Amino acid sequence: MLEHDVIIIGGGLAGCRAAVEIARSNPSLDVAVVAKTHPIRSHSVAAQGGIAATLKNVDSSDSWEAHAFDTVKGSDYLADQDAVEILTREAPDVVIDLEHMGVLFSRLNDGRIAQRAFGGHSHNRTCYAADKTGHAILHELVNNLRRYGVHIYQEWYVMRLILEDDRAKGVVMYHILDGRVEVVRAKAMMFATGGYGRVYNTTSNDYASTGDGLAMTALAGLPLEDMEFVQFHPTGLYPVGVLISEAVRGEGAYLINSEGERFMARYAPSRMELAPRDITSRAIAYEIRAGRGIHPDGSAGGPFVYLDLRHMGKEKIMSRIPFCWEEAHRLVGVDAVTEPMPVRPTIHYCMGGIPVNTDGQVRSSGDNLVESFFAAGESACVSVHGANRLGSNSLLECVVYGRRTGAAIAQYVENRKLPTVDEQRYLREAQQQLQSLLDQPGKYRINQVRQAFQDTMTEYCGVFRTEALMREGLQKLQELQQQYTEIYLDDKGDSWNTEIVEALELQSLMVVGQIILSSAFNRQESRGAHFREDYSQRDDVNFLKHTMAYYSPAGIDIQYRPVTITRFQPQERKY
Ligand SMILES: Cc1cc2nc3c(=O)[nH]c(=O)nc-3n(C[C@H](O)[C@H](O)[C@H](O)COP(=O)(O)OP(=O)(O)OC[C@H]3O[C@@H](n4cnc5c(N)ncnc54)[C@H](O)[C@@H]3O)c2cc1C
Repeated sequence: MLEHDVIIIGGGLAGCRAAVEIARSNPSLDVAVVAKTHPIRSHSVAAQGGIAATLKNVDSSDSWEAHAFDTVKGSDYLADQDAVEILTREAPDVVIDLEHMGVLFSRLNDGRIAQRAFGGHSHNRTCYAADKTGHAILHELVNNLRRYGVHIYQEWYVMRLILEDDRAKGVVMYHILDGRVEVVRAKAMMFATGGYGRVYNTTSNDYASTGDGLAMTALAGLPLEDMEFVQFHPTGLYPVGVLISEAVRGEGAYLINSEGERFMARYAPSRMELAPRDITSRAIAYEIRAGRGIHPDGSAGGPFVYLDLRHMGKEKIMSRIPFCWEEAHRLVGVDAVTEPMPVRPTIHYCMGGIPVNTDGQVRSSGDNLVESFFAAGESACVSVHGANRLGSNSLLECVVYGRRTGAAIAQYVENRKLPTVDEQRYLREAQQQLQSLLDQPGKYRINQVRQAFQDTMTEYCGVFRTEALMREGLQKLQELQQQYTEIYLDDKGDSWNTEIVEALELQSLMVVGQIILSSAFNRQESRGAHFREDYSQRDDVNFLKHTMAYYSPAGIDIQYRPVTITRFQPQERKY
């Protein structure tokens, strides 16, 4: 059996930042990072627009309190305010620390880190490296892992969390290269497995964002928090869904409907294109519904609106947001210097996740913690984003809570022993699971069932939700779950069998999808990204609380947990 003091599942920003902190806190600890991709291919590398922190380099009147208020208001008052205070107070420090590690941030003329405007933020506080911020940060963190001697298992797919008596003991993992299965035990483990964008049919996320860590946690009997809050980013490039960063609007681009109108004036007159994402995405969806969308031939009534950069000029476009220009040019042949880009909302981010306290330790209920189990980043819910995340707060969460969780783990494992694990039992069960997938006669191909599932989630649990629609969606999911037991695999081999990985990922997607739908069904109000046409108002009397959803094959049990309110009493949310 493999063993380490600490194993971290996930080589994105959260996992790498935690690993660096553990190594810094106690260099004698044996730390390993496991990732199903190469760490540098984690979705974090695709982050574009930036990371928020009140450095006050551009806007001297900014303060961490203002950042905290914007975040809480953006969350539609569902964020836990103690967690938001930590996030916003520690932000300047973690950004400076990244710079010291070697991250090449864009600069002002006087050499200080540049900061730009972002949706829902009242001051210019987003630090960036052009529109490739995630790339700049992740590369330095991975370099640092090597420097500190962290062991990296790359292209290993973790397929099961070993949880016994409310203690996490290890994981079972599958080596994609040669089909080997291994059990790893550790004194503490951390999930930093990222989001689940692939639950939907149009997303800005990479192919690996399949919510595996969420599904493994749920299958082990632990709750997932606030899973109904799914972020739609307003500007996915039509038709591919690839992200056009909010930085483009931060730098001054307009949203235009088929009548040539800057329609955000009707939805968020004071913030216009820089309103928070839930409001802007809904505004675009309303425009399209009302027949003011645009068709590819330029006529009215189509499926997208325009993002217009033309007034910004070539020099600004090419220096501040070159990657977005390149994406539109390469993928849909639009030269944004002279033509508007076709955009519409695309699934982008998971506000909910594995419930944790502010040290990253996982909760087994509202009041209890799981021994030896930690989580951070997009897969965790601490909850700093509540019902709607502000742009540039997610990279920040990964770094602030990655660092805190790393520090907490380094302390936690001191004087602890490795757990006992029945290795043979877990190996046997994993091999049986894989063999039965390979042997299954089946009548459906994986991509058929996956496509039907993604279409179902998109149609029945999208921007606009109703009870009747979601009831139908839940029924469809049951049929699809039946179909999952009848899939067949063409590739029966051991070497680089990506079909097996896709089959396991599809299981994750389906578990996560069912939890999203059930959590959304039970929340009879509209808050942040969760919009119910049958309950169109926010209802603080009945629903100012976090959902805790427990999965079991028989169905999903929904409980709730109170929201922590410290400084900011809930108010009507207007922009
Ligand atoms: C296109 C795009 C642009 C964005 N831009 C910004 C931005 O400008 N600012 C901002 O704040 N946020 C942005 N975000 C959001 C932000 O990038 C992510 O929320 C954040 O990077 C997530 O980091 P993470 O470490 O939690 O997970 P990820 O970076 O997604 O990493 C997950 C890791 O887990 C591993 N993993 C998953 N499942 C398994 C398994 N079963 N076995 C083994 N390993 C596994 C993966 O291999 C990967 O290494 C953007 C997101 C996207 C999609």
